[in-house]
Amino acid sequence: MIKKNYLLSPGPTPVPFDVLLEGARETIHHRTPQFVSILEETLEEAKYLFQTKNNVFAFLSSGTGALEAAVANLLSPGDKAIIVEAGKFGERWREIAEAYNVNVVSIKLEWGEAVTPEQIKKAIEDNPDAKVVFTTYSETSTGTVIDLEGIAKVTRNTDVVLVTDAVSALLAEPLKTDEWGIDVVVTGSQKGLMLPPGLALITLNEKAWKLVEQSKNSKYYFNLKAYRKSYPDNPWTPGVNLIYMLRKAIKLVKDEGIENIWERHRVLADATRSAVKALGLELFSKRPGNVATAVKVPEGIDGKKLTKIMRDKYGVTIAGGQAHVKGKIFRISTLGYLSIFDTITGIAALEFVLNELGYKVEFGKGVKAAQEVLFKEVGQQ
Ligand SMILES: *Cc1c(COP(=O)(O)O)cnc(C)c1O
Repeated sequence: MIKKNYLLSPGPTPVPFDVLLEGARETIHHRTPQFVSILEETLEEAKYLFQTKNNVFAFLSSGTGALEAAVANLLSPGDKAIIVEAGKFGERWREIAEAYNVNVVSIKLEWGEAVTPEQIKKAIEDNPDAKVVFTTYSETSTGTVIDLEGIAKVTRNTDVVLVTDAVSALLAEPLKTDEWGIDVVVTGSQKGLMLPPGLALITLNEKAWKLVEQSKNSKYYFNLKAYRKSYPDNPWTPGVNLIYMLRKAIKLVKDEGIENIWERHRVLADATRSAVKALGLELFSKRPGNVATAVKVPEGIDGKKLTKIMRDKYGVTIAGGQAHVKGKIFRISTLGYLSIFDTITGIAALEFVLNELGYKVEFGKGVKAAQEVLFKEVGQQ
């Protein structure tokens, strides 16, 4: 049998041909006026992705580089920060902060739970000396989205800087950085942006820059002041070909329209949720988002085998669980360059594998549920 590959993982995600082709263009010197003008245009256009008027900076790193940049630039050793830990990426915030000797106050939740604005409010009241709150807009490890807009209502009239990891959330969840008052937003290229891994983006407002001015942490490559000083040029060698690709990806985003993209993710995720429920499966998250649908592996089924057969036999790459939920959940992504037929394919493959592993489901039951949602949302429009 011919096997095609379907990338239904929450990063890396599929890259459109037009974007790949853009990356194949000739690499030119990064200090030429030609390239600097491409970089300037790209970074200016990138503001649209965040819905911000503030400058966007690009690092040659995966998303974690920009998370580290946020910690390194906003704080000094001994400073206090509130961190929400409700999954793998919240834990990463804590690990980075600890590496920079930040005094961490953790809001530790069960995986799958979403922090509430009230919990953030209480943590700030209990820790009036905290300078920053680090959140994860979409906790990819659990398929959970937080009420970021509500949380920003708590922080925006205080001195506390609100930082959010939107590495997976950007374009998949509504995000209005300036309107909501999010002070720092971080993202990476290999998720909703439809690019290969290798670029991280960060944007900061004036409130955040005030903290950057006071920061005494050691840093070099990720020193945001160096990026601000040389903007739009890059202090080091920028990712020339990745910048071409980013420019193209932003054009695709603008052509589709950001609201339509948020809606596309919502529709595909709704269809996925409906399909797995129709198959008698249970969602893992208490507040499921549109990046990936985390599903509990049914009793008696080997979750590691499930994702392996999906990938190796059927060509459909989904994600398993991380850390203590490894083998206990699987995650079907709806992130990035995916169509309604990618989602339908993923559900069809899941039905094959569930039957193969002895969890008997009626063929087409999940697909039907997905199609019903998609027809209502897309077919009848
Ligand atoms: C993918 C992801 C990251 C970044 O991971 P990298 O491997 O460094 O790109 C950070 N946070 C979240 C929520 C993610 O989904």
